[in-house]
Amino acid sequence: MPQTFTQLLNAMPTTRLAPSPTGALHLGNARTFLANWLLARERGWRIILRIEDLDGPRIKRGADQQAIEDLQWLGMDWDEGPIYQSSRRDAYAKAVRRLIEGGFAYPCICTRKEVDLAASAPHAEDGAAVYPGTCRGRFASIEAARNASGREPAIRFNVGTEIVEFVDQVRGSQRFQMARLGDFVIQKADLTPAYQLAVVVDDGEMGMTEVVRGNDLIDSTPRQIMLYRALGLADRIPNYWHLPLVVGPDDRRLAKRHGDTRISHYRERGVPASRVLELLNRWLRIDSKQTESIVFTADDDAFLRAVD
Ligand code: GLU
Repeated sequence: MPQTFTQLLNAMPTTRLAPSPTGALHLGNARTFLANWLLARERGWRIILRIEDLDGPRIKRGADQQAIEDLQWLGMDWDEGPIYQSSRRDAYAKAVRRLIEGGFAYPCICTRKEVDLAASAPHAEDGAAVYPGTCRGRFASIEAARNASGREPAIRFNVGTEIVEFVDQVRGSQRFQMARLGDFVIQKADLTPAYQLAVVVDDGEMGMTEVVRGNDLIDSTPRQIMLYRALGLADRIPNYWHLPLVVGPDDRRLAKRHGDTRISHYRERGVPASRVLELLNRWLRIDSKQTESIVFTADDDAFLRAVD
């Protein structure tokens, strides 16, 4: 069968760099981006730059441009994009409608506080309350939920009693009992699509075959796999690569408390990109299936700041 150029392009192995413009790139996420980029360039994957700018209140003005400059300063490039998620709201709304109509998702009027306070709510490993299922099967329609509460409901995906298994390219076999993660939000009460939904709609439509990201998102993967299946996209589920996180000497995820590790900070202080790359390269041992966290030490910081 003859193929169009677009079909050929969509059949290529493809990955994405997907910064959220909620803050600046720091050494930790720069390492993940670099690992993703190197894998892509070594293996001939197409790279799409996607700006994940849906999280309204947390988006910082100009952070998208800053992320682009930081990635470029470190020598990374891409074949397509930037594509802004905020420009694709229709696609997400359509998917939400489809999931409701298919009986996979339902309206939920619980507030976050109610979920946190529900006596029966167990807590997932990350400390977030597991949704106790209060609104599952409760309303015949969105309209009914709206009438009952006087406000717009959120939409949740029903995970049921599913067990999701997948093989991570770095961490090996994974198995998740979905009831322990709970029904998750796919559209917030302010009608903003939630991260899980937007990512699957985009990754599915953009032909993503490889998803490389930090291990803090590994719990999202079984949820995303369920969304692929429910949306009829089971044949498009990508390979997942969950990379270890960079932590501080206290074993906590790299953050402000460990000092200013933003890429822009080093750049402004005159640290050459080659020096930052040297450190990031030391942290890249993907082929050895590294799963241990990487520790950013005072020596590393001193190494970056030392001017030859
Ligand atoms: N935008 C997310 C982040 O910056 C990445 C999401 C993903 O890779 O699925 O953490």
